[in-house]
Amino acid sequence: MTSGACIFCRIIKKEVPARIVFEEDGIVAFEDMNPQAPVHIIIISEKHIEKISDLAGGDSDLAANLMLAAKKIAKKSGVEESGYRLVINCNRDAGQQVFHLHLHLLGGRKFTWPPG
Ligand code: 5GP
Ligand code: ZN
Repeated sequence: MTSGACIFCRIIKKEVPARIVFEEDGIVAFEDMNPQAPVHIIIISEKHIEKISDLAGGDSDLAANLMLAAKKIAKKSGVEESGYRLVINCNRDAGQQVFHLHLHLLGGRKFTWPPG
């Protein structure tokens, strides 16, 4: 299921160019166009779900596949040992800009905690 106006759905359909680094089990990952770290990958499901709050019980495989993709991509990107951060922004206070559920995989530098 895709949503015509959604920029990430358009990337999945290859209507919008992106540097795709992973495609497997209904999951697609690509380099963020405005990277916040040397490694900054966006990981999404092919199914259009607006935000994590909209995940349903039937999406458990999808949710698991997102996480499994993240660890595989971290390894492939060379940050498995050095470390990385996974971020999901949901709604206004978290600053969600694109309403197609996505995981940010950030690595290649040291991060602070708590986040800003
Ligand atoms: P959010 O704030 O919604 O969690 O993050 C959305 C992310 O998607 C941002 O980091 C932004 O740079 C990235 N992004 C938005 N539009 C595009 C696009 O068309 N192509 C790529 N590669 N990244 C995008
Ligand atoms: Zn979408």
